[in-house]
Amino acid sequence: MTRRPGPPAPRFPLALDQVGRGAPASAAREPLRPQRLLREAAQDAARQGTPSGLGLDSALVRQRMVERLRREGIRCEPVFDAMLQVARHAFVDTALAGQAYEDTSLPIGHGQTISKPSVVARMIELLYEGEQARAHGHLGKVLEVGTGCGYQTALLARLGKGVVSIERLRPLFDKASANLAPWRFDAVRLVYGDGMLGHGPNAPFDSIIAAAGGDALPPAWLEQLAVGGRLVAPMHSSRGAGQVLVVVDRHASGWVHTHHEAVHFVPLKSGVL
Ligand code: SAH
Repeated sequence: MTRRPGPPAPRFPLALDQVGRGAPASAAREPLRPQRLLREAAQDAARQGTPSGLGLDSALVRQRMVERLRREGIRCEPVFDAMLQVARHAFVDTALAGQAYEDTSLPIGHGQTISKPSVVARMIELLYEGEQARAHGHLGKVLEVGTGCGYQTALLARLGKGVVSIERLRPLFDKASANLAPWRFDAVRLVYGDGMLGHGPNAPFDSIIAAAGGDALPPAWLEQLAVGGRLVAPMHSSRGAGQVLVVVDRHASGWVHTHHEAVHFVPLKSGVL
């Protein structure tokens, strides 16, 4: 990842509070809402129209999305490169494709939404700031919990050395399988199952990323994180102030947790449907 000199990121200031040391200052801000209320997402979806009048297949619409993320303070070139290559509109229903390059979540069916690009980029940026990625320049072996429509999976496939992605809703597992089929990724394994259990057969993972948040991090995730690896997940703050992004780094001596900005993700649920 390249970091550029300049003023601190305006939209994503880090609040590096240790766990138990209180809510981060940024928790008081409007939380990032990668998966807003479905009603709001549906209202957005009702506004038809292609951004800037450009064809969605044009690289220019993705270029504009990336430029906007840069302006908002994201500084992670690898995720930008991946976002330029992966057509987000191909992962949402045709009727919603016109909004695919706006910074918005959109319904993907079954009460779930595709995460908004700024939050996807931010979480991957945090993974890139971990020891594994700084040492090797990639995310290594990745576990993704909450495949949804598979858009983030397609990004991770380009940034890691193998991705295991787990989804608990069968129809979304099927949808992601169909969405990702044209890419023919060799190193992506989609799993229909309960991601709270992680994926023992492929553990340990250098990077773990979750798109759904609970009250605590499932123990399996911590166990299955490699030494030198990093986990990024939403979690309800211990102070009851909604969700925050939690980063966990596993060192030989143990796990170090840091809390970052406020977010608003769908709930992490156990079992499969
Ligand atoms: N990254 C996805 C996000 C989808 S929303 C996208 O952009 O499309 C979050 C997803 O997490 C939902 O599909 C939900 O079904 C899934 N989820 C919630 N709890 C889960 C669990 N325990 N295991 C696997 N998936 C889970």
